Amino acid sequence: MIISIRRNASREEVEQVRSRIEEFGLKVHSIEGEERVVIGAVGVGSAVTACLEALEAMPQVEKAVRISVPYKFVSKEFRATKTEVKIGKVTVGGSEFVMMAGPCSVEGEKQILESAELVAKAGAQLLRGGAFKPRTSPYDFQGMAEEGLKLLAKAREVTGLGIVTEVMSDADVPLVAEYADVLQIGARNMQNFALLKTLGKCGRPILLKRGMSATVKELLMSAEYIVAHGNPDVMLCERGIRTFETVTRNTCDIGAVAALQEMTHLPIILDPSHATGKRSLVPPVSKAGVAVGADGLIVEMHPNPEKAWSDGAQSLSPAEFTKLMADLQPYIALWKKERAAAAVTA
Ligand code: PEP
Ligand code: MN
Repeated sequence: MIISIRRNASREEVEQVRSRIEEFGLKVHSIEGEERVVIGAVGVGSAVTACLEALEAMPQVEKAVRISVPYKFVSKEFRATKTEVKIGKVTVGGSEFVMMAGPCSVEGEKQILESAELVAKAGAQLLRGGAFKPRTSPYDFQGMAEEGLKLLAKAREVTGLGIVTEVMSDADVPLVAEYADVLQIGARNMQNFALLKTLGKCGRPILLKRGMSATVKELLMSAEYIVAHGNPDVMLCERGIRTFETVTRNTCDIGAVAALQEMTHLPIILDPSHATGKRSLVPPVSKAGVAVGADGLIVEMHPNPEKAWSDGAQSLSPAEFTKLMADLQPYIALWKKERAAAAVTA
């Protein structure tokens, strides 16, 4: 249930509403906007109806509505304005289009520092790179683990770029959160519920990737886990899904980006690298991502893609990445105009 409080309500009146909801055994989450307070109440059974009626009788309650979607906190009904996720000086979900870029894996000091400098110079705002790698084969490179995290921290120190890196298990969350600015949840872990619950308390923004066989609604339910457990800073990532098509590594569900923008207030990132699996397809699909209204892209770039320890075929070379950044500028300019227009009508 969503409860909007009257504009001029005092803090005490808001508190009265909160405690009334709790009396019915419902869980309370509130969003304090500049102009008004919106409260979300979650519960099951007849208590919800009784609570709704009790709240409607309170003068400081403007409206109390039951919502039908199961992903309540991440739905547009709960919050009409977009969530802005702050990562240092960078804001995702606002008026800037955000580029996250870097290698698939951290392979060593020289490789990650070179990558960081290259993507920073080309204009990216955040550095990606995996230190814990989810590989299909147990014999493939599994990542440098904590050593890799330390190298990422060094790259941040040198370039000032915030770090996006994957965490694969709930046991590793405190360690990765110590080094990273954004915790990435890989496609294979989208429904690792123990991990999602732990992220609720990790104190870092999350980049939640869509599972390769997951529906858009399942992605939203996974995001709901993280938000319901206390962390509102979630970004969603479309990274391609598995279909009968074999020309591309995955099928880029570009329509899902537009659908998600209608369904949720969370920022949406597109990953054209894993969505296509092919270097040549990354630039056109990146442009599509900007055009469809994603809030940012996450792109794989390697100083020497032929020698990459993972995902070399889909990694851009430094020159290709620099060209992509330049080629995206007219698209981003248009994107900014659209964002500004949407902000006026909101
Ligand atoms: C990655 O970002 O390198 C990665 C493993 O992505 P995904 O989880 O989308 O496969
Ligand atoms: Mn990869």
